[in-house]
Amino acid sequence: MIIEPRIRGFICTTAHPVGCAKYIQDQIDYVRNRGLMKNGPQKVLVIGASTGYGLASRVVTAFGCQAATIGVFLEKEAENNRTASAGWYNSVAFEQKAQKTGLYAKSLNIDAFSDEAKAAVIGFIKKDLGKVDLVVYSVAAPRRQHPKTGQVAKAVLKPIGASYTSMSLDVTTSTLETVTLPAAAQEEIDQTISVMGGEDWEYWMDALEREKLLEEGVVTVAYSYIGPEITKSIYRNGTIGRAKDHLEATAHELDKRMKKIRGRALVSVNKALVTQSSSAIPVIPLYFVLLNKVMKEKGVYEDCIAQVYRLFSTRLYAGGPIPVDEKGLIRMDDWEVRKDVQSQVRANWEKLNDKNLAQFADMEGYHKEFLKLFGFGFEGVDYAADVDYEQRLISAA
Ligand code: NAD
Repeated sequence: MIIEPRIRGFICTTAHPVGCAKYIQDQIDYVRNRGLMKNGPQKVLVIGASTGYGLASRVVTAFGCQAATIGVFLEKEAENNRTASAGWYNSVAFEQKAQKTGLYAKSLNIDAFSDEAKAAVIGFIKKDLGKVDLVVYSVAAPRRQHPKTGQVAKAVLKPIGASYTSMSLDVTTSTLETVTLPAAAQEEIDQTISVMGGEDWEYWMDALEREKLLEEGVVTVAYSYIGPEITKSIYRNGTIGRAKDHLEATAHELDKRMKKIRGRALVSVNKALVTQSSSAIPVIPLYFVLLNKVMKEKGVYEDCIAQVYRLFSTRLYAGGPIPVDEKGLIRMDDWEVRKDVQSQVRANWEKLNDKNLAQFADMEGYHKEFLKLFGFGFEGVDYAADVDYEQRLISAA
């Protein structure tokens, strides 16, 4: 099949297996060029391991620490002339490259929120790894079926208290638009917390602790975001922000428990980046394109792999106490929230109109990064070639 990008709003409905393999190889090369980390984790579980921050965490621990990894994700396999999803091809390529290097890599395409997922992972840890010394929780999902009640909760991205009107970016036409988002109802807030809050992370840690599968000194980390004043109404003070508050409170509780085995449970606040999930948040893509332009000009731009490598090498496994802020959060958004960066973004935001968008916004970078998420736009990949799109995970055999 010859595969071309088919973009529908903020999603691309096709993915390119050879391009996704190149995406993985580039991440592996980034990590290898920096050398092996001392004292890194050896037996790692990544939940939400196929794209974005979770995928980068899997690559960094495998190729930067030589860790065995179990990856959990929810992706689509190819069927009826439809390509698989990008996360599927990423995971196929990851496993092939890990196996070539002699690294254990097991992948499970399963709903992380279910009890079945926990039972399956527990089975593999017992059989193959004994215990785990790192658990990364990086799920970003639109819905969750609660394992105890069976109820389905849906995450919404809405402001709280009052509706919110803002300038936004129409990514398909690269023009500005004005959007008004209605205020969330309490039920929507609760459902968003159920999907994106800390409960499922806690259930995973409960299950692993119950089965005595946590190594002495275990680390568990989940990812959060705070962001600037200009996105506050929709992000941190909105429904997703409430879920992140819950996630951070969960870390606090888990940390007390983990300390009994000399372990830690932490939240890392990462920088805003173009991923499949973040592209779907209203207003945020406009902030991205302004932010990225400023961060690139100042030489402090990072992508997922660079963020996660820095998280592991300078925070989690740097050898001393893990540096955190006054709320106990790891701040990998430190360069994003730098005063000079934010004041420049703010000034550009205030001057923005359709005519000067190209001057202030990194539109080209955004489109390139977006296409790369689906395996498109990589140099050296022959996109006119007929490719095998029905690829299998080695570990599923
Ligand atoms: P992403 O969309 O790239 O990745 C989400 C992952 O979750 C994928 O591996 C997907 O398969 C998996 N997933 C979704 N539903 C699942 C389910 N039911 N069962 C199993 N796996 C499932 O998202 P991302 O942007 O990397 O987000 C990961 C985390 O990082 C989120 O908590 C997000 O809030 C946080 N974060 C993101 C940003 C950003 O700008 N992208 C910034 C800071 C923090």
